[in-house]
Amino acid sequence: MGNGTDGFSRRDLLMAAGALSLTSLEPVGKLLAADRDQQPEKPVGFAILGLGSYAQNQIMPSFADCKKAKLVAVISGTPDKAKRVAERYNLPPTAIYNYENLENIKNNPEIEVVYIISPPSTHRDFTLRSAAAGKHVCSEKPMEATSKACQEMIDACKKAGKLLQIGYRSHYQNHNLRAMEICRSGQLGPLRSLISEHGFNMPNGTWRTKKSLAGGGALWDIGIYALQAVQYLAGTKPTEVVALRHDLKEDRFKDVDDVSHFALSFPNGCLANCATGYSWAGANNYRVMGQYGRLEADPATGYSGHQLRLNGRLLEIADNNQFAAQMDHFADCIRNQKPVRTPGEMGLQDIRILEAILLSAREGRSVKIV
Ligand code: NDP
Repeated sequence: MGNGTDGFSRRDLLMAAGALSLTSLEPVGKLLAADRDQQPEKPVGFAILGLGSYAQNQIMPSFADCKKAKLVAVISGTPDKAKRVAERYNLPPTAIYNYENLENIKNNPEIEVVYIISPPSTHRDFTLRSAAAGKHVCSEKPMEATSKACQEMIDACKKAGKLLQIGYRSHYQNHNLRAMEICRSGQLGPLRSLISEHGFNMPNGTWRTKKSLAGGGALWDIGIYALQAVQYLAGTKPTEVVALRHDLKEDRFKDVDDVSHFALSFPNGCLANCATGYSWAGANNYRVMGQYGRLEADPATGYSGHQLRLNGRLLEIADNNQFAAQMDHFADCIRNQKPVRTPGEMGLQDIRILEAILLSAREGRSVKIV
């Protein structure tokens, strides 16, 4: 099964917005309820690879809220931790794998998906090995360090006939889905300007400040949320970027980027201004200026506590478990041959844009996005 070729096709965006057509915009809650009423089917078995912070604190506990996805195995390079985590989730010792014997998962039919939650520069190898073992792959963001590695991940999954999802959880989160609906509905008028800031203070001493593991710095880790947001709000891909970059003269920025500002031009006449940084007190927001209306989200893409305002009025939107929704969506795609809402092509497109941002900042010129 292929993923389609467009990172942000019209169909993907409509699906992401939970909207079946431009004229029948149903409330997100109603669509989710309809989803819940479907006939029960065998849950899709997930193996979690990399038992770090995001896996243990967000993803693994969320299986309790999944209707279609089930935790069946762990893959870890730290045996004590793997044993402890497996026990916590009542997994038998036979469901514990490591990075050396990963290929053995091919003999375990319970495992249908490998969900890769390790540092970005490891995503390619783990994807290639998982796909070759006959498993679908979900890879965390950023998809990889380079666009070349991303392309290899896509090719490997295609060759194996397996689906590839990128863990862009905001596409499964109610406030963000509503924001996409509003932008698509026309009630803001033509979209003119998009603004998004995402950043925080990153301490030194983890893989996140090592280029060899992280791929890049703030841009790759958190700036990608701003880049994603302006694209899913604009509903199309940008064509050109202009960027500026400034790094503090500190050890933590010897290897990776700190503050970047980048402007994107969209073919629908809309411009975006994005900023990111690893030396910020913190920001997580976006704003949409239409010709007749304004939409603001702050916090916009956190784990919880989202707030969305339309023309200054706070919208009442029930929060959902976006992590569970992301995994259930992938399970549904696998069981029912549906296109993945956040496919590898979308992850690849973003890494290409990040590469263009660095090039623009380095050479002091605008760069066309191909
Ligand atoms: P952590 O450092 O907390 O965990 C990473 C885990 O990856 C480690 O605990 C380790 O697990 C495994 N690992 C495998 N190879 C390596 C290696 N060479 N060096 C270090 N660890 C390795 O990171 P996070 O959980 O915060 O991030 C992991 C991935 O998830 C990243 O791609 C990140 O961008 C993404 N992420 C996504 C978020 C989202 O909201 N979508 C939020 C946070 C992170 P083990 O010991 O079991 O082998």
